[in-house]
Amino acid sequence: MNFDWILLVVNLILIAPLMFFLYRDSRARDYSWMLWTLMPVIILFSNSVPFSILFAVTIIVFYFILRPKGAILKCPKCGKPIHEILTVCPFCRRDAKRECLHCHEPVPWDAEQCPFCKSRALTKG
Ligand SMILES: [Zn+2]
Ligand SMILES: [Zn+2]
Repeated sequence: MNFDWILLVVNLILIAPLMFFLYRDSRARDYSWMLWTLMPVIILFSNSVPFSILFAVTIIVFYFILRPKGAILKCPKCGKPIHEILTVCPFCRRDAKRECLHCHEPVPWDAEQCPFCKSRALTKG
């Protein structure tokens, strides 16, 4: 039986950028990043190029449906990309938001006043 080198090369070309993207995006969103980074490995079990492409597309579509929605901001402490709703940075574990001393809601780092109650009493962080 001949080993299908073309299939292996196609699989690796699909897997590498997919893993890179999934790692970066799921890590920034603090969303099961180990699971999602390893997910493209199932493409290695495909036995033909069309199946490999189908696997890759399916993974990407499911990821975009399931991932936490919202913008990616920069951590004010370490500068890594992080999801806007995170109050603690998943990379450096430091506070990524201030807290309103009045209503105790998390407030964006660069805000001058609380967007919820308009108080200007925010933690220094
Ligand atoms: Zn950070
Ligand atoms: Zn407030």
